[in-house]
Amino acid sequence: MQYKAYCFDLDGTVYRGNEPIASAVTFIHALQAKGIEPFFITNNSSKTVAELQATLLNMGIIAQADHIYSSALATASYITENFTGERAMLIGSHGLRDALQREGIEIVEHGASVVVVGIDKDVNYMKLAIAAVALQQGATLVSTNQDIKFPTEHGFVPGNGAFTTLIADVASVTPHYVGKPSPRMLEMIARDHHLRKEEMVLIGDNHDTDILCGVNYGIATIHVATGVTPSADATQATYRINELTDLL
Ligand SMILES: [Mg+2]
Repeated sequence: MQYKAYCFDLDGTVYRGNEPIASAVTFIHALQAKGIEPFFITNNSSKTVAELQATLLNMGIIAQADHIYSSALATASYITENFTGERAMLIGSHGLRDALQREGIEIVEHGASVVVVGIDKDVNYMKLAIAAVALQQGATLVSTNQDIKFPTEHGFVPGNGAFTTLIADVASVTPHYVGKPSPRMLEMIARDHHLRKEEMVLIGDNHDTDILCGVNYGIATIHVATGVTPSADATQATYRINELTDLL
């Protein structure tokens, strides 16, 4: 198979926690040796692009900054495109704050017209309560991603979707989710780099986020069995492989 744009999920596909997945690094180096610069798309909104680039460098991968797309960037561009003059209340970490500020979105503590939710390891009762009240006063709920849980070496821990669901339920509103499986990050890649759908492929470990993101956008997908979803359950993937070196 030959594509112009290989769009890699990160956690579970390129690395697991702090450990690179050797077969992925080998495959990415092989692409780069052929002059193909990979794209990276992650639902993780906690890091800036520069931090994601540094993380990849630690794994032995030199990534172009303009080839890295996070749910933080996608959320900021979603707000800019769909609303005007927004005042955003933020539950999230510095990666999301940075992305919103780069889009010129005002961040406020009170009187928000949009509540933006991304993973926030310093989240507390008061933040959740203020957000729930803002939603009842008419603010729109925009969330980076709907992942309810996140795998760690100890077991599953709460993901961003768990907190988003919590405040949405309290306020009886429906969140706008921006990260995978929404195709928005793929749309941004296609637009920014002038790519056609048949030139693009999505590579990921999670069926319900990665593979469905590719399906929703209408491009080919490769499921790799190095992360969350076992191969047998990746039913909608175009290709299913054990590890990326199987493609070499
Ligand atoms: Mg993953």
